[in-house]
Amino acid sequence: YYNENTTVFLNGKWLKASEAKTDLYAQTLHYGNGVFEGIRSYDTEDGVQVFKAKEHYERLLYSAQKMHINMNYTVEELTSLTYELLEKNNLKDAYIRPLVYLGANMSLQPTEEVNVFLCAWEWGKYLGNDLLNLMTSSYQRPNPKSCHVEAKVVGHYTNSILATTEAKSKGFDEALLLDAKGNVAEGPGANFFYEKDGVIYTSPLGNILPGITRSTVIGLAKELNFKVVEKYFTPEEVKGADGAFFTGTAAEVAGIASLDGVNFKMKWEDTMGSELARMYKHRVSSREYKSFDLV
Ligand code: PMP
Repeated sequence: YYNENTTVFLNGKWLKASEAKTDLYAQTLHYGNGVFEGIRSYDTEDGVQVFKAKEHYERLLYSAQKMHINMNYTVEELTSLTYELLEKNNLKDAYIRPLVYLGANMSLQPTEEVNVFLCAWEWGKYLGNDLLNLMTSSYQRPNPKSCHVEAKVVGHYTNSILATTEAKSKGFDEALLLDAKGNVAEGPGANFFYEKDGVIYTSPLGNILPGITRSTVIGLAKELNFKVVEKYFTPEEVKGADGAFFTGTAAEVAGIASLDGVNFKMKWEDTMGSELARMYKHRVSSREYKSFDLV
């Protein structure tokens, strides 16, 4: 993720990654109350563009607010710092990780010391390029009555780690997690879609992280006149699907081959998901994307 030349941003200063330090008494380290984002930049025909910077930083500020973390940065400031970060590190196609973490304090109330850290590195497609074999996780997604599932909170990712580790230990590539009612929620780090008889289905908001890629892909599907329905569904319904895919900033649009050993009916290349994967890739790195979304 970094080497001796990597520059990071920490609390108003540009530092060498190896010189950026934290406090072992940091509240976030002990209790998981911090918030973060995962953003990508792409080398487009019009230079380096941070994809949906506004949406990502709005979500970061929303997550902070939900967790009672006072942040003194605006979306515009964070966006321009991100461009500076990329420039300083000479990065074009990059993954950007903003992290907001709290300083030394052992109480269970968010402390006033709010640290903002930004770093970036080159990262290939998370989840890889091969079609994924999923297992229905024995772990549920965090209950919306226990925490703010719609916020991107550090501590929530212990659930993702458990689910991914379980799936990998059983020989699968990734997990699919259910909500408390047994409906499909999402993956450990991506939203889930499946398609059947020409219609695309995805879980509604409520038990999931409202993915920025999810809404981008729903928009692309509309442009292609693909029908998208947001509804609750069980893993059994998914097993009868023609195809399925994950969406996420890191994963982009990642095709799925099977769930619990049951293969989807269509060849990935023939699915609407595969068309959307191509269109997504094209959009993020093309000129068209300017009208599509810039801050
Ligand atoms: N769900 C979870 C749990 C995630 O961690 C992510 C990745 N941020 C997503 C969905 C996809 O969100 P996005 O498209 O905004 O990256």
